[in-house]
Amino acid sequence: MSFAPAEFIHEQIRLLGASVAGAETYIVAPELNLGFDVGRCPDSVLNVDHIFLSHGHMDHAAGVAYYFSQRMFIDNAPGTMYMHPALIDSFEALLRLWGEIDGSKPESRLVAVEPGRDVELRRDLLVRPFEVNHPSRKPDRTIVPALGFSAVEVRKRLREEYQGLAGPALVELKKKGIAIEQRLEVPLVTYCGDTAPGPFFDLPCVREAKVLLLECTFIDPDHKHRARGGRHMHVEYLREIVPHLNCEKIVLIHLSRRTALQDAREAVRRAVGDADMPRISFLAEHRRRKKRPPESDPT
Ligand SMILES: [Zn+2]
Ligand SMILES: [Zn+2]
Repeated sequence: MSFAPAEFIHEQIRLLGASVAGAETYIVAPELNLGFDVGRCPDSVLNVDHIFLSHGHMDHAAGVAYYFSQRMFIDNAPGTMYMHPALIDSFEALLRLWGEIDGSKPESRLVAVEPGRDVELRRDLLVRPFEVNHPSRKPDRTIVPALGFSAVEVRKRLREEYQGLAGPALVELKKKGIAIEQRLEVPLVTYCGDTAPGPFFDLPCVREAKVLLLECTFIDPDHKHRARGGRHMHVEYLREIVPHLNCEKIVLIHLSRRTALQDAREAVRRAVGDADMPRISFLAEHRRRKKRPPESDPT
């Protein structure tokens, strides 16, 4: 079963994807040439060069082998997938086995990333991994932390004290080796993957993100124990969390497939109040614009 992809647009940020708890989650930012998770692997995911994997659950990672096998038809470039170091060996083994089954092993690039160590994609764009609260356990009982990711635009700005100076004066300062610019980071879109509440909500790249993708798996008041047990978000948690977020838009994802959007919206309204509702939406509410051709599913 696949779910209709949605298209969310806020200023220059465009996100394409689908996210349903336990079924599939993939979200792509085509203009940034990156995606978050690959629970399924339609054309929109194949078209970006960088995929950041939050954790290894099937609904987020089922498309890993498919991504690499199909990527070779696009520019002959394998693409790169970033994940927690504890997952690398397992995915290498998975790709080896697929190679055995398929007759040829697709070229792949798996890169280990750790919380706090930025991945520079371009001079003006980096991705910052951070730890969220959705750990899983390997058979040898090793704990594998789940990751969230923030795509951060890096800008250079003239330092305040030099603003207003004419070009030649600035050139003179530069010649003297004076740093006339300062670095400014703008978290464009931050993806929290699957997660229960945790200290990561205090990170600037989460709190100040222009667009925050946040899971909201459960809305039924009787399902709080399920949220706690599976380390997921319950709509009630938003009551405390949302007031601390300065995000321009909060896009909720990962609803259970049995939850009607209208019910979810009302539950969110009850939790956060009317004032915050204009900046909150569900990814599934955003339908793709009609003039774009429908996304074709790979066979
Ligand atoms: Zn999930
Ligand atoms: Zn999960």
